[in-house]
Amino acid sequence: MQDIANNIKVLYDKIGLAAAKNNRIASDVEVVAVSKTVDIVAVEETLRLGITNFGENRVQELTRKISALPHANWHMIGRLQTNKVKDVIGKVVLIHSLDRWNLAEALNKRAEYDDIDVPVLLQVNVSGEEQKAGIKPQDIRSFLESVIDLPRLRILGFMTMAPEDDNPENARPYFRELNALKIKFSKEKLANVNLKHLSMGMSQDYEVAIEEGATIIRVGSLIFGKR
Ligand SMILES: *Cc1c(COP(=O)(O)O)cnc(C)c1O
Repeated sequence: MQDIANNIKVLYDKIGLAAAKNNRIASDVEVVAVSKTVDIVAVEETLRLGITNFGENRVQELTRKISALPHANWHMIGRLQTNKVKDVIGKVVLIHSLDRWNLAEALNKRAEYDDIDVPVLLQVNVSGEEQKAGIKPQDIRSFLESVIDLPRLRILGFMTMAPEDDNPENARPYFRELNALKIKFSKEKLANVNLKHLSMGMSQDYEVAIEEGATIIRVGSLIFGKR
């Protein structure tokens, strides 16, 4: 546990340095601790150390951990099947992985049934890798314009994942492009769309992501160790 405390301290020091390069401060960047495969005891300890946001990429593990630690803020960051929508909606503070229209429809439908709004980020496949989830940059406009038909959705920003690469500098162009897309579309008045967040950067490349405007970083192994 000493490890986790130290990891968090080092992480926040580096976040502060990266944020300063972008004329911001550490508190402008929200840390989502990615706790997939981490046991509840370690998550609880991390919560006690002051981290309040946790991310999971599998619904089953997510709902199990929400039941164990309902007072934490949980984020869904992985691919979401439409038949699992009912298990996460209203239980997570943010879904980062809205990556296709039929999921948007399923979320809106369930939200109407539950009489709640659903905060989401649009996952964008900036790198164009075929195996990667997310909508293509050229499809963002029509997606955002159509969301007027899904009044329970709240699109609060964009999320992306850079290609795997040992050199974080290679992620920079993708993060820069997503920030440019956010700036471009936030100038337009679109119903149910309020683009304030950019969820980008993981253990490998979070500093570059912050320099390029990330407001949320998703960090797992740097906090909990490799697993
Ligand atoms: C696992 C995961 C992360 C965190 O990865 P680390 O390299 O452990 O920091 C971030 N985002 C998503 C979508 C993930 O699945």
